[in-house]
Amino acid sequence: MKIIIIGAGPAGVTAAETVRSFDRRSEISMLTDEPYLPYSPPAMADHFIFHTDNHLWRSADWPVQTGVNYLKGVRVVEIEPDAHQIRLASGAKIPYDKLVIASGARLYAPVKGAEMPGVYNFKSLSAAESIVEKVRSGQARSALIVGAGFIGMEIALLLRELGVEVTQIEMLDQVMAAMLDAETAAIAVALMRAHGVDVRLNTKADEFIGNGKARGVRLESGELLTADLVIAATGVKPNLDLLSSSGITFQRGIIVDNQLRTSAPDVFAAGDCIESPNLVTGETGLHAIFPNATEQGHVVGMNLAGLQVRYEGAERMNSLKHLGLPIMAAGEKQGDTILQNKTGTNLRTIYLRDKRIVGFQLVGDIGAAGVLHALMAQKSDVSHLEARLLDPGFGEGMLVWNAIQSYT
Ligand SMILES: Cc1cc2nc3c(=O)[nH]c(=O)nc-3n(C[C@H](O)[C@H](O)[C@H](O)COP(=O)(O)OP(=O)(O)OC[C@H]3O[C@@H](n4cnc5c(N)ncnc54)[C@H](O)[C@@H]3O)c2cc1C
Repeated sequence: MKIIIIGAGPAGVTAAETVRSFDRRSEISMLTDEPYLPYSPPAMADHFIFHTDNHLWRSADWPVQTGVNYLKGVRVVEIEPDAHQIRLASGAKIPYDKLVIASGARLYAPVKGAEMPGVYNFKSLSAAESIVEKVRSGQARSALIVGAGFIGMEIALLLRELGVEVTQIEMLDQVMAAMLDAETAAIAVALMRAHGVDVRLNTKADEFIGNGKARGVRLESGELLTADLVIAATGVKPNLDLLSSSGITFQRGIIVDNQLRTSAPDVFAAGDCIESPNLVTGETGLHAIFPNATEQGHVVGMNLAGLQVRYEGAERMNSLKHLGLPIMAAGEKQGDTILQNKTGTNLRTIYLRDKRIVGFQLVGDIGAAGVLHALMAQKSDVSHLEARLLDPGFGEGMLVWNAIQSYT
């Protein structure tokens, strides 16, 4: 069987490894438009700060070891499901028996002028390298970051580590609004400011400005902000260009069934490019985080091997590890019952619905994360545990969360 995987991110890599663990004979080709071997985006900041190579989460001989024909710097521009072939930017066509779309997501910047040269982003290793190169070559002493989601926060802290003066604007009244509740976000913003990041909330960019090259932004208020380095961190959107004439169904992301099959025969999809059901709420949406990408890649790999495995649903979780105080959030940030405990710099907030944990936020002491996550994922009735959930010792020693986080 001839299997083609588009994308060498966590979803594509895991799909390849999984199918290979069941099937030594199929011919697997993996195509990426990037010039690198597989890397881990969450580990990019550490790579630049500490000069580690942990972002290269697979060894240089991974393609040979895994038996994957690894094609770098190759862009897929079209999928032709009827002919069972893909078309490359070079015009070449490659046939497949089974196809996996793991094309991930890219920057989404709904701000006028975002296409202008000089608007940087941190969504890929090459994009991140351009930012760091500007700083290390002495061309950038100040940076303006538009957006304070988790990628924006990560860039801000990285740039502070590199000695850059950072202004960060956020149109909402809190940072990481998709993930953090207001109280946890207030702690995160205070820590950002303590790191020297000038975070400005309720501050909306109307337009990137510059004479052919971005120099700053015009705010909704009319004020102009300028910096040596202008960075958009306004969100991500799935890479779907290659689907335009394929007939494969997509909305915000690729629509898949519960075995991660797309609407086209023999075409699967996984990772940031798909829409998936939320494990806790059942709502379908984009769930662009690393563990979801690898889990989906795993399911696709098993289904390629003919095992008929069902995908149960995606998680919502995130952690901030460069603030000096760990912050972790998972699941929802509302419920019919809220349990909270604050001691010193530690904050633990747990959201329950119908006696089940639907989300939690931890600041400082994150020892309970593993057990809280397990109880949430299993939808366990925790009424008998309610009194203990806030106990500082609860869940200590549970390593599940550490295992989940070990990819960074
Ligand atoms: C800075 C940063 C920090 C992050 N931190 C965290 C974190 O702390 N925790 C967490 O859970 N998640 C984090 N994430 C998100 C996580 O990295 C993504 O969810 C994950 O990488 C998605 O994997 P993927 O395989 O679906 O897609 P990607 O990793 O996006 O890989 C897709 C690949 O496909 C390639 N491609 C796309 N289109 C084509 C085409 N037409 N032809 C050929 N190749 C193509 C892309 O260039 C890319 O290399 C972070 C992301 C970033 C950018």
